[in-house]
Amino acid sequence: MIAYVRPPEPAGFATDAARLAAAKAVRDKVAPTQPLPPAAPMPAQSVGSDDFKDVWGIHKRAFIDAQGRGKCGYCEVRVTASSPGDVEHYRPKAELKEASDQGTRKATPRRRDRTRKYRPPLKPGYWWLAYEWDNWLFACTHCNSAWKGNQFPVAMPRVAQSLLRTLADFPAAVAEGSAAFQKSVLRRLAEACRPEAQFAGMCRRLVDAAPELGGLTAKNILDLDAQGKLA
Ligand SMILES: [Zn+2]
Repeated sequence: MIAYVRPPEPAGFATDAARLAAAKAVRDKVAPTQPLPPAAPMPAQSVGSDDFKDVWGIHKRAFIDAQGRGKCGYCEVRVTASSPGDVEHYRPKAELKEASDQGTRKATPRRRDRTRKYRPPLKPGYWWLAYEWDNWLFACTHCNSAWKGNQFPVAMPRVAQSLLRTLADFPAAVAEGSAAFQKSVLRRLAEACRPEAQFAGMCRRLVDAAPELGGLTAKNILDLDAQGKLA
């Protein structure tokens, strides 16, 4: 395996109006109240692949040139005219697919591995990275659409997804009028947001931006915890 070589970000990329407009369109659909770039991932009301305007395809030549004369960023096969390859998203943008088995471990990605089994997709994907240069990668068609697809396995639990589920519990706890339930939700959030916690920064940004909490911030929750009010 060789290290993946991404081409340098082109001049003007940061301020590219088409890219920013496309990112804003997605952001407006997913989380209309968030600034751009978003402070944190938010639950998608409805966002699919079709909602993402393609502004990465125009950079394909640069990616081909950077990666060993058109080698796939995953399997290193040299991409050919009959299988032209794509600039794809390393972290999937609209949804995440998780395999529920180990697959067949075939040596070469010749065609779709139809034996694999998948869980229902997790939504949203890493939509806030859809227009980031560092999340783009040149891949052969087999890897892009048949093998890697929308998978992005992680060793730890998906922090964002589990926090989103916890956040979604809070309005229910308020509606039920259950102080104990509210405290248990806030305690879980406090644990995730503690400075020493893994992914604490990401968790704090996510909590701070969550409309479910009605203005309650990570700092508020940590203060309540420090004062013993969540015990
Ligand atoms: Zn490949």
